[in-house]
Amino acid sequence: MRSVLPIALLVVACAHPVIERAREPALTYAIAIDETLAHMRVSVCPSAARLPAALVPIHRAALAHLASVELVLPDGGVRALPVGERIDLTEAPPRACVRYDVDFTACDEPHGPPSCARAGRDLFAPTSTWLLAPETRVIAAHYAMRLELPAGVHVTPFGARESSPGVLELDDRAFAFVSYVAFTHDEAHALAVPGGGCVDLVTLEGALAASDADRTEWLTRAASASARVTGTVPSERLTTIVVPTIDVPSMPVVFGVAGRGMQPTITLFVSANATAEPLVHDWTAVHELAHLLIADLDEDQWLSEGIATYYEEVLRAREGLLSEADAWSAIASGFERGRAGCQTGVTLREASRTMHSSHAYACVYWSGAAIALLADTAYRRAGSSLDEAIVRAWPRRAEHTSATELVRWLDGETDGVLAHIAATALDATTFPDTTAALAADEAAVAMRHAIMNGPSPTPSNPSSCTR
Ligand SMILES: [Zn+2]
Repeated sequence: MRSVLPIALLVVACAHPVIERAREPALTYAIAIDETLAHMRVSVCPSAARLPAALVPIHRAALAHLASVELVLPDGGVRALPVGERIDLTEAPPRACVRYDVDFTACDEPHGPPSCARAGRDLFAPTSTWLLAPETRVIAAHYAMRLELPAGVHVTPFGARESSPGVLELDDRAFAFVSYVAFTHDEAHALAVPGGGCVDLVTLEGALAASDADRTEWLTRAASASARVTGTVPSERLTTIVVPTIDVPSMPVVFGVAGRGMQPTITLFVSANATAEPLVHDWTAVHELAHLLIADLDEDQWLSEGIATYYEEVLRAREGLLSEADAWSAIASGFERGRAGCQTGVTLREASRTMHSSHAYACVYWSGAAIALLADTAYRRAGSSLDEAIVRAWPRRAEHTSATELVRWLDGETDGVLAHIAATALDATTFPDTTAALAADEAAVAMRHAIMNGPSPTPSNPSSCTR
């Protein structure tokens, strides 16, 4: 399935912001993984006297891998705890730690994120499969993570600074979002990309027709395309994880997903036989990077998928990966598929809410893209553009929010252009009317030409990879 799972995986946290940042890490995670990358042992110890009242998986996917949980008492004694959705620690004595074992043997059968996957000797293991978080979190708290990796094994760059040698300092983002993590025998290559940022590119083991140079070219062009909204890439530093997978003819990228956390990522499951040319022209990497242009949403996928789907075509045209005519043709045929998929008599609001059970992906993604086009043309008639709306919402792109709030950030006001277009489309049971935007008259043609020609990326800067 060439779907792009709209994974928005915020953990419901009871946040009690404090003014001053704590000096000590709230918890220290010591993480050891065995040589076969099949078993992980995690020890969680508090800096203060007591553990939190409970630990909870940051995603239910972890429940399939959590093998055992134990309380480690200050005298060295060990007490088994029930494995479940909530590890109750209210009975833990002062200075006790928690130790849990994670089993990755089931990752040999790939299911795609937020599950894990094995590729050769390497392991793709999102934090959804192994990370337990305090049930109640203080947003300003920070956490220490010490990783013990087998010789020759590297972990995907986390984006965390080392608070002391070998100890990473994590903040609440590590728990608020699923991070896509890979344990690999090859190190990441840092690429200074157009748009002024740095991309850490890591490739798991496995048969792959695309060479190092091919992957570099592909992801450099995709990053450059993503910079053709604001001039810069969505994050100064981000990670791309390439997972070789079975060959699916005509699908260079079988699956893609954008992730957030300490360092944004895109993960791309690549067809074994995909070569440079189809990869460079494929939409998936540009789509996933476009997700990172705006804040994360866990519902209302019409908005995040709509903007990513619209820009996957627009940005490839701006980057020269598609002709303008081909980009408009792709958009028009996407609208046709969306229109066909929306014939269920439910509103877009409802289709978006039930998308994962009804599989109304074409309806939701392309209705959202149609809303993005309608908003872009309406903004432009008023002297602005969707690009400028992205710039308005840019400072908050690493946050998690609701669609209502994100629309307000994009519009720069309450009840603005996008809010009005979305309100009409969400309550309709028919596909948004894009006739005027796609018309043959001179003004519409000029508008469409302007859409496909956006800002150039700022030049690459090698120093962005040394920070
Ligand atoms: Zn998407």
